[in-house]
Amino acid sequence: MIDIYKELQKRIEKRRVLKDENMRNHTSFKIGGLADFFVIVQEIEELKFVLDIAEKYAIPLTVIGNGTNLLVSDKGIRGIVLKIEISNLKVIRKKDKAEITISSGYAVGKLANLAYKEELTGLEFLSGIPGSVGGAIRMNAGAYGKEMKDIVISTKYMEKNGKIKKLNLEEHMFSYRSSIFSEMKDVIILETVLEAGYGNKEEIKEKIDEYRNKRIETQPLELPNAGSTFKRKGDIITAKVIDECGLKGYRIGDAAVSEKHAGFVVNLGNATAKDVLELTDYIKETVKKKKGIEIELEVLFVGEK
Ligand SMILES: Cc1cc2nc3c(=O)[nH]c(=O)nc-3n(C[C@H](O)[C@H](O)[C@H](O)COP(=O)(O)OP(=O)(O)OC[C@H]3O[C@@H](n4cnc5c(N)ncnc54)[C@H](O)[C@@H]3O)c2cc1C
Repeated sequence: MIDIYKELQKRIEKRRVLKDENMRNHTSFKIGGLADFFVIVQEIEELKFVLDIAEKYAIPLTVIGNGTNLLVSDKGIRGIVLKIEISNLKVIRKKDKAEITISSGYAVGKLANLAYKEELTGLEFLSGIPGSVGGAIRMNAGAYGKEMKDIVISTKYMEKNGKIKKLNLEEHMFSYRSSIFSEMKDVIILETVLEAGYGNKEEIKEKIDEYRNKRIETQPLELPNAGSTFKRKGDIITAKVIDECGLKGYRIGDAAVSEKHAGFVVNLGNATAKDVLELTDYIKETVKKKKGIEIELEVLFVGEK
């Protein structure tokens, strides 16, 4: 029988091919079982190599970014979990706007900081979002009235067969916390081109500080979580509705509705995915019963059911 672990190490450095890796180490929720293989790729050729192996031996592949919107199954993830750390960053200054080409593995918070240093405005909303560019594209991440759809120009991705394709803005099919990549599960986002305006450094800094401070004040950043657990429902702010149902502090196992922000489920120490799912089911049922509103998870469940 083929030894996939050894096979992967033929092309990728040993320290970037992990076997039976605990997904708690790769998710902001600090929850999840073992991934059969956890592979970090740093070059396009390495990525192609992993895709080839997955295809050749029919191994399931799961791409993750910074793992900040994921709930990983207690039973773990079969096959290969792939993290992209290819680095490409280019800023082109045009007449009235700049274009930033950035790899999918780059952290969006770092990107907001980079834009600030370059005196570029329009990316401030990303500061404080702990995800990667790839995850932000897939999720159409947003905050403070802006989303990725407002700054994206185009995105390149790789298909399972190694072919690279490009999407223009309208082809991303962006909607609330969703994009075409929500359906195209088998592709890997490689890089994106974003637009930014020319701004004033002090004003950019002020905005970034304001957004960061708001998060520190209102979000339970001291406990592991995966951001807003549920999506907004039109104009309805889910966190407010959950709070009005008296659910703040409600706990199953070590998963609890944050006392600080009812929109966040937090891990009090040793929460399991099962605890979180039981809790989110209970929240959904209660909100339906008391308010007549059906709410939907924003956090994505991955791994063995
Ligand atoms: C404290 C906290 C605050 C948050 N605040 C916000 C907020 O204000 N606004 C907001 O929108 N979100 C917020 N989030 C949620 C999360 O940060 C975003 O959804 C983010 O965009 C997820 O990026 P990620 O890299 O962590 O993706 P992951 O969680 O790793 O993955 C999310 C999805 O993207 C896919 N994906 C990731 N990279 C790639 C790639 N290269 N190719 C193909 N698919 C890929 C994964 O397969 C998965 O389906 C918050 C989370 C936390 C913990």
